[in-house]
Amino acid sequence: MNVKTDNLSWLNRISAGIPLIIAGPCSAETKEQVLNISHQLSGSKATVFRAGVWKPRTRPGSFEGVGDKALKWLQQVKAETGLKIAIEVAKPRHVELAIKHDIDVLWIGARSTVNPFTVQELADSLKGTDRIILVKNPINPDLELWIGAVERLLKSNVNNIGVIHRGFSSYTVTNYRNQPNWQIPIDFKTRFPDIPMICDPSHICGRRDCIEKIAQTALDLQYDGLMIETHNDPDSAWSDADQQVTPEIFKQIIQRLVVREKKFRESKFSELLASLRSQIDNMDIRLIENLNERMEIVGTIGKLKKENNVAVFQQERFSEILEKMIMHGELSGLSHDFINSIFKEIHLESIRIQENIFNS
Ligand code: PEP
Ligand code: MN
Repeated sequence: MNVKTDNLSWLNRISAGIPLIIAGPCSAETKEQVLNISHQLSGSKATVFRAGVWKPRTRPGSFEGVGDKALKWLQQVKAETGLKIAIEVAKPRHVELAIKHDIDVLWIGARSTVNPFTVQELADSLKGTDRIILVKNPINPDLELWIGAVERLLKSNVNNIGVIHRGFSSYTVTNYRNQPNWQIPIDFKTRFPDIPMICDPSHICGRRDCIEKIAQTALDLQYDGLMIETHNDPDSAWSDADQQVTPEIFKQIIQRLVVREKKFRESKFSELLASLRSQIDNMDIRLIENLNERMEIVGTIGKLKKENNVAVFQQERFSEILEKMIMHGELSGLSHDFINSIFKEIHLESIRIQENIFNS
C-alpha cells in the first residue's frame, strides 16, 4: 500500500527536527495529580502530555482508569500548560469523547492492535480525522498485525499516523517486561519509512532503571520520539508503579540522552566510513563463500550417509560443534547467544541440504 508522505509532516509540524517527547502518568488518577505532573513537565523537552483514562488491565479487579471525568482535567492541563494531550482509545465511544474534548493525540494500545475487529471499529470511527493517531505494536511479535492496523487506518483516510514500539510479551521471565525485539520495529521502518516511530521504554522495561538505556538505543536507531511514563509519586501510582519516574528524573534522563546525527558531516568521516564499509562488504562476501564451501562438504557427507544408511541428524556431533564454537567464540569476544544462534541456523541448513539428498 502507498503511504502518503503526510505522515512525516505531522511530526515536522509539531516537533521539527527533534525527537518528539511524550511524558505523563500511566493513568490519570486525580485532577491534582495530572495538574501537578503537567506543571512540572511544562518547560521541559516534553511537548505532549500522556495519561490513560480507560485502562486495559490484564486481570479484572485492577484499577481500570477513572474514565470519562478525566477528560475535563486533561483539557485543563492543556489550557494551563500548553502541552498537547494524548490518551489511549480502545472503543469508538472513546474516540468520540476524545474528539469532543479536543484531545490532540489518540493512541491505540497493544491489546487493541492485536484484534482486527477492534482496529477496524476504531478506524471506522476515526474516518478522515486530522488528529494524530499512534498505533502501539501488538503484544505478540507479529509485524503483519502491526502493519495491518496501520493499513486499516490508512484506508480510513487517517493521514497523521505514527507507531509506538512498546515491546513484545513473552511467557518466560526475561530482563524486560516486554522484549524489545528491535528487528521488528526496524522491519516496520524499512517497509514504511515515512511513518514516525516512537519508542515507549517504560513498557519495554517495566522498571525504572533501564529506561534510559532503551531510550538511548531507540535514538541510536533513529527513532522519531519517546514516550516515557512520568508520575509525581511513582511508588504510589495506581498502575505501573515500578516503571514510572518523577518529572525530575525524567528531565535528567532526557538531558543525558544523545541525539545522533543522521548522517556523517565531514568528508573525512565519510571517507573513513566508506573504507570501513567496503572492508565489511568484502568480509561478508568471504563469509558467504566460506558458508558455500562448508555446505558443499555437508552435501558430500550427506551422500556418504545415504549410501551407508546413516541418520542425517547426529546429536553428539552437533553438540560437540556447538560447544566448541561457543567456547572459541567467547575466547574471541563473541557472545554465547550470538554463536549459539548462528550455528543452530547453519546446522538447520545442513540438515535441509542432507534431507534433500536423502529424498532425491
Ligand atoms: C499504556 O501506555 O499505558 C499502555 C496500557 O500501554 P500498552 O498498550 O503498551 O500496554
Ligand atoms: Mn502504563
